[in-house]
Amino acid sequence: MIEQIYEKVSNFERINREEGVKLLKEGDFLTLGKLASKIRFKKHPEKVVTFILDTNINYTNVCYVGCSFCAFYRKPHDRDAYTLSISQLVEKIKEAQSKGITTALIQGGLNPELPYDYYLNLVRELSKSTVHVHAFSPPEIDLMSKISGKTVDEVFEDLKDAGLTTMPGGGAEILSEGVRKRISPKKISTDRWLENMQKAHEHGIKTTATMMFGHVETEEDIIEHLDRVRALQDKTGGFTAFIAWDFKKENNELGKIVNRTVTGIDYLKIVAIARIYLDNFDNIQASWASQGKDVGELALHFGANDMGSMLIEENVMREAGFRAQASVEEIASVIRKAGFRPALRTTDYRIIKYL
Ligand code: SF4
Repeated sequence: MIEQIYEKVSNFERINREEGVKLLKEGDFLTLGKLASKIRFKKHPEKVVTFILDTNINYTNVCYVGCSFCAFYRKPHDRDAYTLSISQLVEKIKEAQSKGITTALIQGGLNPELPYDYYLNLVRELSKSTVHVHAFSPPEIDLMSKISGKTVDEVFEDLKDAGLTTMPGGGAEILSEGVRKRISPKKISTDRWLENMQKAHEHGIKTTATMMFGHVETEEDIIEHLDRVRALQDKTGGFTAFIAWDFKKENNELGKIVNRTVTGIDYLKIVAIARIYLDNFDNIQASWASQGKDVGELALHFGANDMGSMLIEENVMREAGFRAQASVEEIASVIRKAGFRPALRTTDYRIIKYL
């Protein structure tokens, strides 16, 4: 049976949920890598691996949702709670721009005290620079809709008018209601996450899809997640890339009850399964910031064609006790060592220059 699934994948046929679960549970590690690579090279025959130079700015750490896996959020009156003003954000962008970034990934906690205009001004002001504004996630869009009394469609219209063209795929974690109820019961439902994504795509706003694994989910949950984003991609074609990262246990409630650790092998298997299952996604990222440069390098032989971000600032993972830093040259040399030609890209995967 598993051989039949290998055969199907090798012939570039779509696999179903049951086959996906079997592959994830029983698939041979190196065979998965080989199959994922085969698909990668069919989609991207050239031996090029891209990455982006960006900054990740979190405009507030105040959040009422309190997800159990999150080490980043604060209550409004906590001593280290903060919300950046628009002018502080502009300053941060200027500083990052002087280091050569092309994109600003902007997300925040769900802070109900922020007025609707804050989000529109943020996009408007930051869009005045030459930096591409890649901002917000489906839960933030939902909050904007609530505080403004506008529909999600109207929120997207306003954000587009302000200058928003792309959005990151945060807040997905695992798109399975059972998992969501356990790790983030106050966050929007999986259906709502997908509905908001669909609306973004319908408004011409391209997004990524993400997944955070390695906590309470099962293999079935992982495949359910992949299946739901694949189904949405069939409908809209609005996802530019898929990014998986593993749960970090430090400084959060969920970490106290999860006793498994995601190894490099676990991570690579997920990258390969994502490449195999998500047959309608062009780009699969190797999140080197999550697993380190060595695993990132190997991921390029497990279906990934992109090294993701060279982050200038990353508060969320830093709060969870995880720091991964690298210079452009280091990432380029990791890509070369893996046998590929490095290239800097834009948010919509156009190559800026080869390195
Ligand atoms: S993950 Fe996001 S929504 Fe959840 S507590 Fe952290 S900041 Fe809030």
